[in-house]
Amino acid sequence: MAAAGGRCAQYIPALSKADPRAVGIAVTMADGTLEEAGDSSLPFTIQSVSKAMALAYVVETLGEESVFARVGKEPSGDPFNSIIRLETSQAGKPFNPLINAGAIVVSSLMPGRTGRDKVEGLRAFIAAATGREDLGIDEEVRASENATANRNRSIAWFLKELALMDGDVEECLEAYFRQCALLFDAAGLSRFAAMLAMDGLAPGSGRRVISGRNARIVKGLMITCGLYDGSGEFCAEAGIPAKSGVGGGIMAAARGRLGIGSYGPSLDERGNSIAGQLMIARLSQELGLHAL
Ligand code: GLU
Repeated sequence: MAAAGGRCAQYIPALSKADPRAVGIAVTMADGTLEEAGDSSLPFTIQSVSKAMALAYVVETLGEESVFARVGKEPSGDPFNSIIRLETSQAGKPFNPLINAGAIVVSSLMPGRTGRDKVEGLRAFIAAATGREDLGIDEEVRASENATANRNRSIAWFLKELALMDGDVEECLEAYFRQCALLFDAAGLSRFAAMLAMDGLAPGSGRRVISGRNARIVKGLMITCGLYDGSGEFCAEAGIPAKSGVGGGIMAAARGRLGIGSYGPSLDERGNSIAGQLMIARLSQELGLHAL
């Protein structure tokens, strides 16, 4: 499938080196069976896909009340890295956990004092959900983001000013950069998505990873906010809760049916994988996955 017109993320220098023509897709069924095509086992940094995973981790670990005391559940309609509403909104907290401001709050809530400890916990959680123990961290991408993160750093310090973040700001940012730099593949994303699709049960083993309610919370935020300011359009086309990342990944959870992971680093102007959106919308039409 062509990914014409887009380009790889440029604002994190190391991401611009990805092959813009790479394309892969993977589907995990409830019983754990995997179907895959193209570059489905090519590792890439999951970037903002990690925001949905980290949200699942903290709501399950800390409970929804403590999480949503500090971050909202509403779409913002703004670009992923926008800072403007932090000062102007009445709520005095980020709109949702899937924009950068909300995700940095979630990273700060992950158990552990250092960024490294926090992400080790997240990594163990993802391993339990997917059966995959092999998640690495792309040190070049992590360092590249850290070196250029003036906007995320500004957001984090402003969150500290709003008393929405405990602990050391730089350690919380380190956690955020590390989780974004986690290396996974489309097959791995499809396994996590399948766990969400099965209302919190791991594909294959059927072991409970998160509660059914928490799975609904995460999927509710994915369908309304998962593709940033492109969420409404994607929802109309594909009708599946999904989360994208500027590394080119998308994970999508079709309730009771299957989990999808896709890879295609060529992005549209909103930062969403062009090929991934097309492939998931096509699968949704062909398999009747549209939830609406
Ligand atoms: N690490 C990226 C950032 O905060 C994630 C953005 C994304 O994937 O949308 O800028």
